[in-house]
Amino acid sequence: MTSADQALQIVLENVAALGVERTAILDACGRVLAEDIRSSRDIPGFDNSAMDGYAVRGADIVAASEANPVRLKVVETIGAGQMPTRRVNAGEAIRTMTGAPIAEGADAIIQVERTRGSGDVVEILAPAPERSFIRPRGEDLRANELVIAAGKVLAAVDLGMLAAVNRAVIEVVRRPRVAIVSTGDELVDVDEVPVGAQIVNSSAYALAGAIREAGGEPAILKVARDTPGEIRERLAEAMQFDAVLSTGGVSVGQFDHVKGALDELGMRQLFHGVAQRPGRPLKFGTVGYRPIFGLPGNPVSTMVCFYLYARPAILKMAGRSRVGLPRVVARCGVDIKIAKDLTEFVRVKIERDGDELVATPTGNQGSGILSSLSRADGLLVGSSTETLLKQGAHATVLLLGAGAGDIAAGAEEVTFEGRRHIH
Ligand code: AMP
Ligand code: MG
Repeated sequence: MTSADQALQIVLENVAALGVERTAILDACGRVLAEDIRSSRDIPGFDNSAMDGYAVRGADIVAASEANPVRLKVVETIGAGQMPTRRVNAGEAIRTMTGAPIAEGADAIIQVERTRGSGDVVEILAPAPERSFIRPRGEDLRANELVIAAGKVLAAVDLGMLAAVNRAVIEVVRRPRVAIVSTGDELVDVDEVPVGAQIVNSSAYALAGAIREAGGEPAILKVARDTPGEIRERLAEAMQFDAVLSTGGVSVGQFDHVKGALDELGMRQLFHGVAQRPGRPLKFGTVGYRPIFGLPGNPVSTMVCFYLYARPAILKMAGRSRVGLPRVVARCGVDIKIAKDLTEFVRVKIERDGDELVATPTGNQGSGILSSLSRADGLLVGSSTETLLKQGAHATVLLLGAGAGDIAAGAEEVTFEGRRHIH
C-alpha cells in the first residue's frame, strides 16, 4: 500500500499552478502575486520633513544654544500637502510640518522642540547637522525598483505597497474552483432534520470551509444518491471545476459506484489506499489536469485526507510553494497507543507549558467521531514503526487552523472578562 509520504508526493507531482487573473487589491490578501511589481516613481517623490519644525540653513545656526539663541525670520508656514512658495535665504526659516516638502535654500530641519516662539520670529536653541530630519526623495523606493516579486503571498501591508505605486488592479494566480460531490442515500442537507437512517451531510460543509481556508472556491453540488447513474451524472458535472472532491463510496461496500463512474470518465488512477489511519481508503487520480480525490465517507477520514493531500494540492494550484500544514514538536501529555504498520494521525489538543507544547488526545479516535476533530488543534503523527508513544515522548503535530498556530506561537490570550459582545 502507498505510504502517507508517497501519497503526498504523488499528489504534488500531479498538480500545477493555475493560470493568472486580474483582481482588485482589496480582494488580493492571501493570494499569490503573478507579476513583478516595480515602482512607477521615486517614493517619497520629494525631500520632506520627518518632524514638525523649521526648514533652515544649517550655517545660520551653528552657534545656536539655549543661552545664545539664533533669531530667524519665519517667512512662511507649510503643512503636508502644501508646496513652499518661498525659498529660505540667510537669516530665514520656513515653519514646516511632518511630510511637507523642504523649501529651496534650506538644508536641515530643526525640530520644534529645539525652538522657542511661534510668531514671525523663531528662536533656535541648537544647531542642526546637515540634512537632519530631511527624508530624501526615493529613500523608500527608487523609480523602477522591484517592490514585490511574483510568487509572494500577499499580506495586508503589500496592499499598502501596491496602492503606493498606484496599482489598484494586479495579476494573481487564479483561485482553484473545487467541486464537492457527496454520495450517499442517507444524506440530507443542513436544513433538514434527519429521520430514520438518515444523517446530515456534514462533510460537505467542513470541506467547503477548509477549501476556503486554503484559498479555493468551493461548490457543493447536489448530493448523488447511491446509483451508478446519479454518481456518474454528478461527477460529469464536476468536470467543469479545477479539482474534484468526492465523499463516500470508495470502500468495498455494495453501493460503492464512485470507482466505476471515475473509470468511465477516464480517470488516471494514481493510488487507491494509503497506509494510514484514519483515511485508509483514499483514492486519487486525474482527469486531464484535474486532480480527483475520492475521499472516504467517514467524516474524520474525509477531513484528515483533505488536510493531508487535497489542501496541499489546492495551495499548489493557487500558486503557493509552502503547501504542508504547519508543524510543531510537542510532548505527549499521556501514553498514546498508535496503529501498527500504519501512520496514525491522532487528534490532539495542544497547550503551552513554558517553552514546550503538550499534546493530549481529544477523546474517541473513531473515524466517525467528528467532535474529537472539532476539539483538536492538530494531528499528532504516530509513526508506522511504533505502537505506543509514551507520556513525555516528543512527536510532530500538524496544526489545523489559525487558532492552533496562535497557541503554538504563544499569542496572547484575552481573559474571558475581557470579551464583550456589542450589539
Ligand atoms: P461510505 O464511505 O460511503 O461507506 O461512508 C462511510 C460512513 O461515512 C457512513 O457511515 C456514511 O453514512 C458516512 N458518510 C458518508 N458521507 C458522509 C457525509 N457527506 N457527511 C457525513 N457522513 C457521511
Ligand atoms: Mg456511502
